Amino acid sequence: MLLRDLKDDLARCGATGLRRSRIVIEGAQGARVRVAGREYLAFCSNDYLGLANHPALAQAACDAAREFGVGAGASHLITGHSVAHQRLEERLAAFVGLPRALLFSTGYMANLGVVATLAGRGDTVFSDKLNHASLIDAVRLSRAEATRYPHLDLAALEKRLAASSARRKLIVTDGVFSMDGDLAPLPELIAFCERHDAWLLVDDAHGFGVLGRGGRGILSHFGVRSPRAIYLGTLGKAAGVFGAFVAGAPEIIETLVQRARTYIYTTALPPLLAAAVSASLELIESEDWRRQRLAELIARLKAGLKDGAWRLLPSTTPIQPLVVGDNRRAVALAAGLRERGILVPAIRPPTVPEGSARLRVSLSAAHAPEDVDRLLDALRDLEGTLPLHPLR
Ligand SMILES: *Cc1c(COP(=O)(O)O)cnc(C)c1O
Repeated sequence: MLLRDLKDDLARCGATGLRRSRIVIEGAQGARVRVAGREYLAFCSNDYLGLANHPALAQAACDAAREFGVGAGASHLITGHSVAHQRLEERLAAFVGLPRALLFSTGYMANLGVVATLAGRGDTVFSDKLNHASLIDAVRLSRAEATRYPHLDLAALEKRLAASSARRKLIVTDGVFSMDGDLAPLPELIAFCERHDAWLLVDDAHGFGVLGRGGRGILSHFGVRSPRAIYLGTLGKAAGVFGAFVAGAPEIIETLVQRARTYIYTTALPPLLAAAVSASLELIESEDWRRQRLAELIARLKAGLKDGAWRLLPSTTPIQPLVVGDNRRAVALAAGLRERGILVPAIRPPTVPEGSARLRVSLSAAHAPEDVDRLLDALRDLEGTLPLHPLR
């Protein structure tokens, strides 16, 4: 019986520390959030620049709601594509330094759209093992042959590229890996593309706004310029709003307009969101202090944990994972922090590999240095209290 099977599954989930639950946030995102009337210091969101609740963005959204209404009313190819979307696409393309950009409703849909449009039967997609779920699903949907190479293993990747006789070869990778915070080596990947006639899709969900000159993202960070690079940025993380875009060669973008099912068969993003993203872009570009603040907070967290029992992964980005290994232990640590008024999400399989459950600390320009100090104090406080020994 379906319901009984589901109930058993859910019970198993609970027993292995894998059951997830949602917390209900009262009010806006920020360094502090309110849950059930209590205020918590939060290290959970992807709002790296602290823009999700910025008054200029809210104002732009309100103004646009008056001008355009709330809903887009139709898909982009019917009558849903407004001047707010058009302007934003032009700005985004110029910002990341690529010929053309196309808005999608979400990063998830953008990944499905790009991969399934550019690759199909007879093609091969080369995918880093730690890529985001949306890229994994995108490869499945495309029906291309999938080969997953070990995380950042360039030698393994190149061997497979060289051995491949696929019609089209597409390398897909997170720019900043979402649960580890490390970077894909773009210059090497682009060199592989040139050597092996392959193409590169880089999903910069966590780099856009954070990395590179003025927050232009990972291509700018590495100084990579290549017609073989297809750039995907999301707008719900550092940009503080919602949505995503793909940028690249005009032929690629126009093909997505004509063929990408996750672009064509869905309602356009509300124009007020496009207007809010435009306002966000101005702050991303002009307010370098937000990225400087992030760099200071990252350094402070690393220095504070250097000599203790807790181990951070070697990340230089605002994603600072503290790996504890065991699922229940990660949950216990998150619960201990929560008792102390601090929210940090415990990330467990299948989001991360078995045995590598972690607390994913994410920093934001909305945090003050003292906020990081409070987290450090609480972590030190919890060092001896958990059931098992800290791993590694
Ligand atoms: C968040 C995320 C996405 C999905 O973006 P949404 O706009 O939230 O759907 C895609 N890729 C990566 C690496 C992400 O972290």
